[in-house]
Amino acid sequence: METLVKEKWSEIIAYLRDEYLINGVLFRTWIEPLEVVSFYNGILIISIDEKKQGDILNLIEKKYKIPLQVAIEVKTGSQVDIQFRYKSELQADRVSSYNNGDNLEYKYPFLSNGHSFDNFVVSGSNNIAYAASVAVAENPNGQVYNPLFLYSGPGLGKTHLMHSIARYILQNNPDYHVTYTTSEEFTNDVVDAIRTNKQKGDTIATSKLRKKYRNIDVLLLDDIQFIVGKDSTQIEFFNTFESLYQSGKQLVISSDRPPNQMEELDMRYRSRFNSGMTIDIQPPDFETSMAILKNKQELSDKKLDDKILDFIATNIKSNIRDLEGAYNKILLCSRFTKPNEKITLEMAEEALKDLISPDDEKIITADYIIDVVAEHFNLDKDALLSPKKTKDIAVPRQICMYLCNELTNLTQTEIATKLKRNNHSTVIHGVNRIKESLNVDKEISNTISVLRKKLET
Ligand code: ADP
Ligand code: MG
Repeated sequence: METLVKEKWSEIIAYLRDEYLINGVLFRTWIEPLEVVSFYNGILIISIDEKKQGDILNLIEKKYKIPLQVAIEVKTGSQVDIQFRYKSELQADRVSSYNNGDNLEYKYPFLSNGHSFDNFVVSGSNNIAYAASVAVAENPNGQVYNPLFLYSGPGLGKTHLMHSIARYILQNNPDYHVTYTTSEEFTNDVVDAIRTNKQKGDTIATSKLRKKYRNIDVLLLDDIQFIVGKDSTQIEFFNTFESLYQSGKQLVISSDRPPNQMEELDMRYRSRFNSGMTIDIQPPDFETSMAILKNKQELSDKKLDDKILDFIATNIKSNIRDLEGAYNKILLCSRFTKPNEKITLEMAEEALKDLISPDDEKIITADYIIDVVAEHFNLDKDALLSPKKTKDIAVPRQICMYLCNELTNLTQTEIATKLKRNNHSTVIHGVNRIKESLNVDKEISNTISVLRKKLET
């Protein structure tokens, strides 16, 4: 709406002038200096330039509010309510609002999903991307890494980091002009401008577009892969990039792959994009997934058993969006349980059965292996996890280590934690002992194949 009114502004005020017979001098002093600021919740904010126009708010409101509303409706087809504000007052608001999370989200709706550095879980799979993002957010002057180019498969946190960068900059540098845009939005803007140019037979719309994207301090473009190959959009973006880059402005770009794997991307831009800092984000390991789930859990009033979180983290490995989806799906189960009734692992398995592809091998967790091995040797699970080193316990425990190593994706450190051992060298030793025995000890090799069958069917 804001854009539409801005685009049609000259038509709107011309209509006002003609319909309400406002003469030349009045028009130039009172109407022409008005500026459309923003549109939110049906209210269009229009600024009065106090310096040029004086204290005329009451007068303008009395005389022109309704006529202007009518003119807007005639020219855009939409009804709006208008609020006039002095420019100086708006600027003061703008500065103070940057320190206030709510207002920031009001002014920049893309921030409303709450992504920030504070709620980004940092781990081995994303710590470099995180550190570089923080460095750029702290020094958004194009001097640290420019451009910062983040890439990864879907759902691994690129958008989360870009939003965090934008939020941090806006909170700490009130007068910075930060623009975050997706490829889709950028494409729409370019296509609209070209269409308007054609209709009007001029180039005003593209000039406006350039003004919008080039008159800024920081530009973040999310998912650039969608504009690479789209000729006019890609050219427009590259020109924008070049113009900002040359004037030392900060650029942050995300993509599903690194610049040198974007075949349709001009060589010149491949090296341009690579000239700053190119960083990937890897799929989460088990510990990261658990940390993210526990983080989510803190924000929710329904708690899930660690066993269930373990089950989700073990099964949903591809990306964090799916991980969160699986978690939410299990929470939905609580709709069907009584308020104090717990969600069981069986219910969780049932809830996720469509997400875990039927072709996947049966998912085996460390806990499951421990249970099956304890049962097989008729041992107490606690004994298996205790410090005791007698042979009747040490061998089954080593078998657990071996099976965890073979049948799960856990690292040896993670297996050590699961089995309550102090460090991963115990696991390496245990796994090797069983491997060696397999060739020479018939009893061990039989036991292992029986256990594998138990676990895998
Ligand atoms: P991408 O842009 O790479 O496709 P998103 O940034 O949209 O991925 O992330 C998908 C979801 O996962 C979002 O809800 C996001 O908040 C969450 N997410 C991703 N990485 C993390 C992380 N390290 N810590 C917490 N949440 C994360
Ligand atoms: Mg994204």
